Amino acid sequence: MDAIILLGAPGSGKGTVAEKVRDACRYVHVSTGDMLRESVKQGTETGRQAEGYMKRGELVPDSLIIKLVEERMDAGKKDARYMFDGFPRTTAQAELLEQSLARRKGRLLKVFFLDAPRKVLLDRLTGRRVCRKCGTCFHVVNIPPKRPGVCDVCGGELYQRTDDQEVTILNRLEVFNRQTESLIAYYEKKGVLERVDSDRKADVTIADMVSRVKALGAQ
Ligand code: AMP
Repeated sequence: MDAIILLGAPGSGKGTVAEKVRDACRYVHVSTGDMLRESVKQGTETGRQAEGYMKRGELVPDSLIIKLVEERMDAGKKDARYMFDGFPRTTAQAELLEQSLARRKGRLLKVFFLDAPRKVLLDRLTGRRVCRKCGTCFHVVNIPPKRPGVCDVCGGELYQRTDDQEVTILNRLEVFNRQTESLIAYYEKKGVLERVDSDRKADVTIADMVSRVKALGAQ
């Protein structure tokens, strides 16, 4: 079982890139944010415990996150390749992931850091709209749907995530700077970090990422 990690601030394009890499390179996409939103929607115990933190734009406690990820890996195939998106967020989570992979004789192949200036991140997040039904992301200016408020893929209703309001966004970026940036140093030291410029058109960043991930398979 091998794994790659997509690191990046909210709005760096992790989710969009992950969907394309998943399809092009056959990785199992594990987004802890999506899993948590689903738990909240279903009203599970994990969802109830996570909801308040998410609304405030704070990190959910490590113990909850690790439980979710472990359950997901236990349920998957033993030879699956995982692409983590939005996980790990702290060095404590990174250490726990390392132990998890070691127990399963897995390797961490690479950590990709999607990098974009703060102004670009803010603009992407405030304009982001998500389909309620299939989860496809749009942007009011950069990736507008054909009909305002309606998903091009499935016709579902587009909505703004509650944590994409400006005050919460500022807090999420602050939390990212404080806690996740130490992860970048952590993985840089281990020699597995690759910086990827994500201040480019989505198609360009996606093509770049797909070729980087395919190159891993060829090693
Ligand atoms: P995301 O969709 O990745 O932006 O995550 C949305 C929210 O879910 C975050 O603001 C956190 O509250 C929570 N969350 C997602 N992943 C993690 C994680 N690995 N550790 C802690 N909290 C997380």
